[in-house]
Amino acid sequence: MPGSEHSQPGCQLSDELRHYYLDTMGIQLWQALHQPVEDITDNRQEDKDRIWQQLEHAVSSCTKCNLHQSRTQTVFGVGSRNARLLIIGEAPGKDEDLQGEPFVGRAGQLLNAMLAAIDLQREQIYIANVLKCRPPNNRDPRPEEAQACAHWLEQQIALIQPELMLVLGRIAAHHLLNTDRSLASLRGRTHQYAGIPLIVSYHPAYLLRQPVEKRKSWQDLKYVKSLLNGG
Ligand code: SF4
Repeated sequence: MPGSEHSQPGCQLSDELRHYYLDTMGIQLWQALHQPVEDITDNRQEDKDRIWQQLEHAVSSCTKCNLHQSRTQTVFGVGSRNARLLIIGEAPGKDEDLQGEPFVGRAGQLLNAMLAAIDLQREQIYIANVLKCRPPNNRDPRPEEAQACAHWLEQQIALIQPELMLVLGRIAAHHLLNTDRSLASLRGRTHQYAGIPLIVSYHPAYLLRQPVEKRKSWQDLKYVKSLLNGG
């Protein structure tokens, strides 16, 4: 039975994020900006839709790190904005960069199959990456790139307010949990990110290279299902 661990400090809105919301929402949002992140969900649906629209537009033209120079397009995220489960990967790969959608290609197909195994359709969840632009030649994201991009994902998390976050792969887990521990040691327990339960598992691209690990991945997926079922 997985244990419980609280390893991530609360997610705070940055000044930049506050200014962003001010720009997009006008003076009416001023009070909301001084509320905890979770209170964003109290905004009216049309306000949230407007924030999503503005957020996606801002990401599409982002030049905060050098990765904007080599991208085909940004990869914002996809899925239900009311999802109970938010899946977070590392960064776009070649297929994602070309199609503008996270987790496509062979890794995406495997993810879809993994989700189907626990009775979830891709459309029911939200999928995003830590980085919105592809690192050249699929190299690991650099810390300064992840730092530059972090506030986009923070806003997505704040807007979705998922019940559970499933983080796939070492890079994304290290970034979100602010740790350098091995992925193996991070699996099988519940972490916390801004008060949201978070669990860690293998990235589908890794599973394609190491199919023997699919068995452990299945254990993680069953754990996801049990948490979503209130277990
Ligand atoms: Fe902006 Fe993130 Fe792309 Fe860097 S990776 S340019 S911070 S969207």
